[in-house]
Amino acid sequence: MKTMGEQKLSNIKTIKEILERHGFTFSKSLGQNFLVNPGVCPKIAEMGNAQKGFGIIEIGTGIGVLTCELAKRAEKVVAIEIDQRLMPVLEETLSDFDNIKVINNDVLKVDLHQLIQDEFKGLDVAVCANLPYYITSPIVMSLLESRLPIKSITVMVQKEAAQRLCALPASRDVGAVSIAVRYFCDPKILFNVSRGSFMPAPNVDSAVIRLDVREQTPQNVLDEHFFFNMVRASFSQRRKTIVNSISSVMKLPKSDIINCLEQLSISPTVRAEQLTLDEFIELSNLLFTNKQAR
Ligand code: SAM
Repeated sequence: MKTMGEQKLSNIKTIKEILERHGFTFSKSLGQNFLVNPGVCPKIAEMGNAQKGFGIIEIGTGIGVLTCELAKRAEKVVAIEIDQRLMPVLEETLSDFDNIKVINNDVLKVDLHQLIQDEFKGLDVAVCANLPYYITSPIVMSLLESRLPIKSITVMVQKEAAQRLCALPASRDVGAVSIAVRYFCDPKILFNVSRGSFMPAPNVDSAVIRLDVREQTPQNVLDEHFFFNMVRASFSQRRKTIVNSISSVMKLPKSDIINCLEQLSISPTVRAEQLTLDEFIELSNLLFTNKQAR
């Protein structure tokens, strides 16, 4: 039998043959849409910092199509996959590589700080993945909020999620998650991927985004927890003004919020999608100071 290095893992025939031989059936609830377009994985690896001097964390291996492309280019890959049924498949498909470690666990339960310390000594670290769409935002936010020492996060997500995650403040697609992403990193959409590139084909298109993690988050935020609560509250009722949204969610008097907006020369009828990141920061600082003084 040919080794995997000799076979083309990105070839749809090979993928079908492997899955059939292992009696594998796709789990919708785990977001299992596997890449079968040979052009996509090398591009994600190349644009996602898979290179000498880098260790890569991959989330959700499937049968390892992206894992192989990452391992060809980076020093080491640690790949986290929740589905136990894929372990024997990966043993076969990744057998040519000695720089891959597979962890069978839910990524949200893995201590990634510890993992980076244990597995990537002396290396820069990046995350690359074709993410399971049902938990895109929780995964991205947990990677960012835990302040992992990583350079970038390059992930395939639903096209709408890509637009939301990378939206500019004060633009149509912006949401609480876009403000949070911009707080921690510099995001950009790299390229689109059509639904036909996957097996089974999902009923939405996808896009690959890269989030370059900032060395320092904005230094002028008085209380980060209060800031993020206020941003979430601001977007909680999109049709309402932020005065109404913040006061109802955070139980703050409307007059206080209007006062603070006036101090910043912002109209009291403003909506969340009209504010810049700096304006959110200034407003949260004023409201936080007011609250402390009360
Ligand atoms: N990387 C493969 C590819 O591109 O073909 C598979 C991508 S598929 C969209 C998402 C993968 O994430 C699936 O293999 C799924 O089992 C796995 N997964 C789902 N939830 C997960 C979780 N909480 N932790 C780790 N892996 C997960």
